[in-house]
Amino acid sequence: MRSVQYLRDYVAIPSVNPMGRSDVPAEIAGERRYAEHLREQLRRLGLDAELLGAGERASVIAEAHPAAAGPALLVASHLDTVPVDGMEIDPFDPVIDAGRMYGRGTCDTKGGMAALLAALERVLSRGRLRRSVIVVGEADEECGSVGVADVLAHLGHRRAGAVGRQRAGAVGQRPAGSVDWVLATEPTGLRVATHHKGIALLRLEARGLACHSSDPARGRNAVTAIARAAIALEALGAELAAREHPRLGPATLSTGLIGGGHAPNIVPDRAWLVAERRLLPGETDAALRAEVEGALARGGVADVEVVRCEMMKPPLGTEPSHASVRACCAALAALGRPVEPVAVAFGTDAGVFAAHGIAGVVMGPGSIEQAHTAREYVDLDQVEAMEELFVRLLSC
Ligand SMILES: [Zn+2]
Repeated sequence: MRSVQYLRDYVAIPSVNPMGRSDVPAEIAGERRYAEHLREQLRRLGLDAELLGAGERASVIAEAHPAAAGPALLVASHLDTVPVDGMEIDPFDPVIDAGRMYGRGTCDTKGGMAALLAALERVLSRGRLRRSVIVVGEADEECGSVGVADVLAHLGHRRAGAVGRQRAGAVGQRPAGSVDWVLATEPTGLRVATHHKGIALLRLEARGLACHSSDPARGRNAVTAIARAAIALEALGAELAAREHPRLGPATLSTGLIGGGHAPNIVPDRAWLVAERRLLPGETDAALRAEVEGALARGGVADVEVVRCEMMKPPLGTEPSHASVRACCAALAALGRPVEPVAVAFGTDAGVFAAHGIAGVVMGPGSIEQAHTAREYVDLDQVEAMEELFVRLLSC
């Protein structure tokens, strides 16, 4: 099927997310090459496609609005892959073996984009596009979600009528309007995922008073203060264990990095830690900050400040009755596949869209167990089945 050919093309175009590193070679870093390839492919299908974002961190967006169609289905398939260090296969020369395609991004998540474009091509060529669709390939899903921010800003402009008219000759008839729901194509083994936790990062800094270590009573030790903060966070994490979600289990908190000080003979005046909090649907970063500050106060921790409390990926919690779940389940049922919604352990851009009022689900080919691995692969029958699912979603 055509999705397999497209997947091969996409994997051969490196789109590595540098993840804040400076040692990722320029030939493979950034999403622009892949975004440009998709823009040209989407334009050949007659869609109004354009790039968003600055420099190498480009995203692509395209819209098709058949006459009399309702609000749009937005399909988001991120363009970036994780880096390729330590891979045991050629990351950009896809190989097919025993029904699997190997290469970086085969599973996470170029298989989803390949299935979407193959399905769109089929549906358009038969004149059977029945619903408005917005195709989004967003940059930076694996790190800071810069791409989805660019996409949301663009959609906001479109809705305000500030940007653009439909390109002459484009498929579009209806002006760009509201988005009905979002489907993020992450590897769920073709299950409809309605729930995942959110991810927030916390950075705490301690300020002390430096002095000679031969007389430490003259100073205030920032390393000791940050150690007390780490213990207070551990106590808070234990309290969170009682905050159980029926589908996702408990919220969690874990201190992952700690540092500080200058030399053994100096009482340290600075120290820091970084902790990661996994959030349940309904939890906000503002509530999270208040909760951490409360835990520090209860633990009697002085001289420590929460300097960063940032939601990296908001949680997702979509009700089973939501239109996105019903539509995906109907498509799955028509193909004889399991329809029971699942929760997944990883964060996605569906959570970001949901936090901005566009609810939806996660569904895509492949298993998260193969994502980010040294021998990343996807089962091609899943990519082909996803193509069929998209045909149904777009033509019903
Ligand atoms: Zn992914």
